[in-house]
Parts: sequence; structure tokens; C-alpha cells
Amino acid sequence: MPDTSRTIIDLSHPLVSGQVPACVGHPCFSASLNFSLAKGDFANVHALTIGTHTGTHLDAPYHFFEDGPTVDCLDLTLLAAAPAVVADVRHRSAHERIIWEDLVPAAEEVTRRGARVLLLCTGWSRNWTKANYSDHPYLDAEAVKRVLGLGVRVIGLDTLSPDEVTPEREGADVHRAVLGNGGIIVENLTRLDALVDSGWKCITVSLLPLNLGGCDGSPLRAVAWDGTE
Ligand SMILES: [Zn+2]
Repeated sequence: MPDTSRTIIDLSHPLVSGQVPACVGHPCFSASLNFSLAKGDFANVHALTIGTHTGTHLDAPYHFFEDGPTVDCLDLTLLAAAPAVVADVRHRSAHERIIWEDLVPAAEEVTRRGARVLLLCTGWSRNWTKANYSDHPYLDAEAVKRVLGLGVRVIGLDTLSPDEVTPEREGADVHRAVLGNGGIIVENLTRLDALVDSGWKCITVSLLPLNLGGCDGSPLRAVAWDGTE
């Protein structure tokens, strides 16, 4: 019997035409009916316009490294029913740097649980679709190297990027540190605050990408549950 009593927290933003922020130059998301029952067609079938970094998604090493693994070659044991730790960094605000000291409690839990997924809760997902969404706090590159040194392979955030984004430039130091070590970055997560406030002791996540041959990233459906249930 499936366990229908289990609580699942959906960490993915909904994809709605015209309401998905994207980095400058990236494809805008749209979904439109290609076939329509209302118009007398045999079924409803949508056509999608979507980028590899649309909405809640992951970056594979190939995103920044020509010889890095692509989405279809990722180690799914890192992404399917994986123990995860959430760092509460909601005290950091627009364009503020998240430093190692902010991550120490989470780092201790990573070590204790042997987790290879670290999620950073900035609370910035509340600004999804607002003009200031790209003004999020960002991660210090030296701090992320220490996190990787603990065995973490997947870094997820509720922001557009782990790096600082300004109108002048998109930083890439954290991208290069994580992806250059064979790690994976998950961006545009949401409801990480609900995860922090859940009190769950054994957070488990699935962050599975589409099996896109040769691609650098993929939209995904991110979910979390309490592994003790
Ligand atoms: Zn991305």
C-alpha cells in the first residue's frame, strides 16, 4: 500500500507562462495549446518554450566546463531520496555575502548525517516574479569550497544563482567552484523556509532532472519529506 499519510513539501516554483523570471538572454517560458479539445481536436496537447535554466532547475558541470558531465550523466544517487541539510541564512539580505560562519551549524549536521546535499534558505523565493528577484544574497566562494570539503556534492538555493548578480555582471566564482569539482547546483527552489520551520530531523529530498541528452541543465520537480516517517 502506498503511504498516503506522508507529508511532501514541494520545493518547485510553478511554471506559468509570462511569470517565470530568467537570466538576461535566456529563453522565456511559455506553454500554449497545440491541440485543443475546446477547438475540436482529439486531445489537449501543449507546446512548450523552455530553457535548461527555466524555473526550479539544476546546473550540471557541463554548464561551465566543456568536458564536464551533462545532465544525462549525473549520479542519480545524489539526487533521488537523498539526505539533505538546510542552512538557515535568512538574516542575509539583498546583495549580502553568505559566509562560512553562517553555515557552521549546518556544516556540523552535514558531517553528523553524512549528507551530500546542502540547501541554503535565504527566504528570497518570496520575491519570485518581483523586480528585485535578482538582488538576492549570494554565497562566498571560499565558504562553498569548505562545504565541498565536507563531502557535499549538491548545493541548492532559493535564489536565481549562488553567485552575485548585478545589472553589470553575473558572478560565477561559486558556479566554477561547485561545477569544477563535479558538483551540482540547484537554483530557484522555493519553500525552503517551510522546510526549516518543519522541525524535521531527517530531511530527504528528490531533485531529479529530465534525462536531457548532452544538455547543461534541466528543469526539475524538487520535493522534500521527513526520512523518519
Ligand atoms: Zn542555472
